[in-house]
Amino acid sequence: MEALTWHGDRDVRVEEVPKPEIVNPTDAVIEVTATAICGSDLHLYNDNVPSMREGDVLGHEPMGEVVEVGDEVESLEVGDRVVVPFTISCGECWFCERGLYSLCDNSNPNAEIARKMMGHSPAGLFGYSHMMGGYTGGQAEYLRVPYADVGPIKIESDLPDEQVLFLSDIFPTGYMAAENADIEESDTVAVWGCGPVGQFAIQSAQMLGAERVVAIDRISERLEMAREHGDAETIDYAEADVYDRLMELTGGRGPDSCIDAVGTDAHGVGLDGVTDPLKRDVKLQDDHPYVLREAIECCRKGGTLSVPGVYVGRANIPFGAAMNKALTIKTGQTHVQRYLDPLLEKIEDSEIDPSFVVTHEEPLDAGPEMYRTFNDKEDDCIKVILTP
Ligand code: NAD
Ligand code: ZN
Repeated sequence: MEALTWHGDRDVRVEEVPKPEIVNPTDAVIEVTATAICGSDLHLYNDNVPSMREGDVLGHEPMGEVVEVGDEVESLEVGDRVVVPFTISCGECWFCERGLYSLCDNSNPNAEIARKMMGHSPAGLFGYSHMMGGYTGGQAEYLRVPYADVGPIKIESDLPDEQVLFLSDIFPTGYMAAENADIEESDTVAVWGCGPVGQFAIQSAQMLGAERVVAIDRISERLEMAREHGDAETIDYAEADVYDRLMELTGGRGPDSCIDAVGTDAHGVGLDGVTDPLKRDVKLQDDHPYVLREAIECCRKGGTLSVPGVYVGRANIPFGAAMNKALTIKTGQTHVQRYLDPLLEKIEDSEIDPSFVVTHEEPLDAGPEMYRTFNDKEDDCIKVILTP
């Protein structure tokens, strides 16, 4: 089958790879009908995530039709139309039982390697490096889905793919980011980053009752989307001083909640003194997360900082300021499974149509070009859907 594969810094290729098969009785295989490129894929594209191997199949935002199920799968049948969360979760461990699906203890066979490299043992993620389990990704014609009774959500209505696909990641991610921001009715919420995750965080903050949302970016079409679809006020950080502007907007107090929907930048990850057990050279440098530092500085005393943005290694942050300002900090990979039913209901009730973010729909073999376009923010690109 055809798939998009990783070959190093800014090198994604279309290649023939083996078609996936059922490995465990709890697996399903889906034929992918739509699959998106995520801002998280850009960390891989820029070679900032260790433990990738040449030829790894990318992609973690897929949906499609079930074509095969293992003997122990109970909730899916061949022919079902499903969206697949990017988090792979067993559904039975201590963490899954508490709804902390992205912290599943059983879905990552390389968790111990990750613990040695990064100091934590993450759950398995599709198409996201060997330290996240080495799972084959969904930017492909077919995908093996482990723990098929726990992840995929069936779509029984005739909503088109582009309206439900983002349940796989960015809609729940934006929603969890807003939930983590502890929003109360009179609150001002500042959102750094108007990429797809930022756009859903902005809309979710509105749904959760924020009085005011201020969105920050420098890309004009993304700021415009935040104003038009997210009813946000905007700050272009290339033109205005973000701290000064936020203080002006909040009477000098600072936003009640700050959401970092940017994450690590392309300057690399800090894995000081740790060698990649998979024997690739790792970029060993400190990470100076500009947005995280700025958000800590801007947030009002006693406020909340919510961080959906992905950080891979060490982050040099002003923790003294966070401590002395008594900030609450909440973060994490999204517990996608928790949000599938309630957010599908919002789509079905026309409370939101997630397809507003889509700017590009292309065949799978345009993938390499679309990675470049999305990464370089060219051609007004905000979100790409690929169709195998
Ligand atoms: P994206 O690259 O499309 O968007 C990032 C945006 O941040 C861009 O518009 C960029 O211009 C803006 N930006 C960069 N520097 C900035 C600054 N100093 N101030 C304000 N804005 C700035 O990516 P995306 O798809 O929206 O994803 C955003 C982040 O969320 C990424 O780090 C991604 O890995 C992460 N993510 C996390 C989860 C999760 O489970 N926590 C899931 C999906 C994505
Ligand atoms: Zn994603």
